[in-house]
Amino acid sequence: MSDEADIDTSGAERVVECRGLQRAYGAGEATVRALDGVDFDVFSGQFVSLAGPSGSGKSTLLNMIGALDMPDIGHVAIAGIALGDLDRAQRADLRLRRIGFVFQSYNLVPVLSARENVEFVMQLQGLPAANRRERALAVLEELGLGSLAERRPGEMSGGQQQRVAVARALVTEPVLLLADEPSANLDSSTTTELLELFQRLNSERGMTIVTATHDPTVMRYAGRRVHMVDGRIERDESG
Ligand code: ADP
Repeated sequence: MSDEADIDTSGAERVVECRGLQRAYGAGEATVRALDGVDFDVFSGQFVSLAGPSGSGKSTLLNMIGALDMPDIGHVAIAGIALGDLDRAQRADLRLRRIGFVFQSYNLVPVLSARENVEFVMQLQGLPAANRRERALAVLEELGLGSLAERRPGEMSGGQQQRVAVARALVTEPVLLLADEPSANLDSSTTTELLELFQRLNSERGMTIVTATHDPTVMRYAGRRVHMVDGRIERDESG
């Protein structure tokens, strides 16, 4: 076990910076401190799993890093951009251009094919139509989904749908890939395939990945495991 201070981050860009994060839900006696003073950094090229029991604050922290939610107190910066300085529209734009999301429920548009799902996010980014198709197909091919490009989500297995979700997250070339319980709906062999994909993206492309999970298989693949308890970081282990 090592402290975060022991991680060799020499020369690496700080992709995520969280300082003194506090986030409470509810009021009075019913107040839940979902985050209770979290300091957390992620450097370029790290594969981090946020671990901890249900209710320990993993999703809340991931939502802060993904600019989906803001802390009551504290500071979050992504690739040097302080989220507190951005308005809602600017945060949405940062999510669209800098962050890739993978969710446990895949969140694909059911009436669109795999290719169209991947193209859709580029359309939102305002990329010319001519480039979108080619790029979508290239990413699907890279992820082993070339032959499924014209299938709709309902015509694919859960594992295939999750790979399409990863393709959609990657096509925008984000600085950070966030995955909330990505294996929750997958069986063990499909989970292993997804994790091998994450590992390959991390080691070959240097993709920075943060995943929230209570799945020990996911934790084994991550180079760094951050354990949360009651809205606080209890341990930060590498290796
Ligand atoms: P985890 O992802 O580790 O399961 P969460 O971040 O989802 O934990 O939740 C942390 C705590 O905050 C839990 O007690 C949860 O019930 C509470 N919480 C999270 N989101 C909300 C919300 N939108 N409204 C009320 N309570 C919430």
